[in-house]
Amino acid sequence: MGITLRHFVDTFVVGYKDQPAAAGDLPAPTAVRAGMPITTGGMQTVQYPDEKIPVPERFRYLPFLLYEEEPDGDREAFDGIRCTACGICAKVCPPQCIWIVQGKGDDGRPRPVSTEFYIDASICMSCGFCAEYCPFDAIKMDHEYELSSYERHESWVYDLQELLHPVAYHAAIHPTDYAREIAEAKVKAEAERKKAAAQAERAKAAAEGGQDLDELKRQKLEARQKFMDERNRKKAEAEAKAKAEDSGDAASSDD
Ligand code: SF4
Ligand code: SF4
Repeated sequence: MGITLRHFVDTFVVGYKDQPAAAGDLPAPTAVRAGMPITTGGMQTVQYPDEKIPVPERFRYLPFLLYEEEPDGDREAFDGIRCTACGICAKVCPPQCIWIVQGKGDDGRPRPVSTEFYIDASICMSCGFCAEYCPFDAIKMDHEYELSSYERHESWVYDLQELLHPVAYHAAIHPTDYAREIAEAKVKAEAERKKAAAQAERAKAAAEGGQDLDELKRQKLEARQKFMDERNRKKAEAEAKAKAEDSGDAASSDD
């Protein structure tokens, strides 16, 4: 009773306070009629499908795959498609509704890209595990939920072409997640820059007469071989000596 009363009061107090002056006050593509509250305070009837409430960033429906519109780095060779066909999403998917075919090069060896990717949306339970576990930020959960269809089979199996979305779309619907990706990419780029600088420093030191790692390795192997040869020689000498002593003892006992 208390909750019902609170909702009833909120409907007038919160809802009235937050209502926009005109439909144009709301961010596109939100199609909410002027006069309709934009917060979830209180209760109001939404005239769906004429009116739609914006979904929160964490809302998830079906997964989609990402491609870079202007790829650089190692994904350039794969048309910017982020998916490396590692198969982790297919393994963690509880209803097993993901099928992946990994690409192969001319030499028949596997390549880090999927040539076919299917998701059976009629089985997908929107758990988000695939997006959660993907190590390459290649699959995300979409906000699109108007997917009704008269057909119950083929049209619900989405292929690579239907699943691919540009990164800009992901950035628009998942701004927080996208900001995290950018921050992580910066940290990774900085770590790679430091690694390259350290390698260049070592090469420079080697060129200027410092210790060369390959040379150190060669010296280590040479020293170990020398040590083992010496050890085997001593062992053989000790065995020969013991044998000679045994034969001497046997000769004196015969006398
Ligand atoms: S986990 Fe990510 S990279 Fe691996 S196959 Fe799935 S979508 Fe592709
Ligand atoms: S959201 Fe869940 S059920 Fe749907 S494809 Fe991803 S892991 Fe599978």
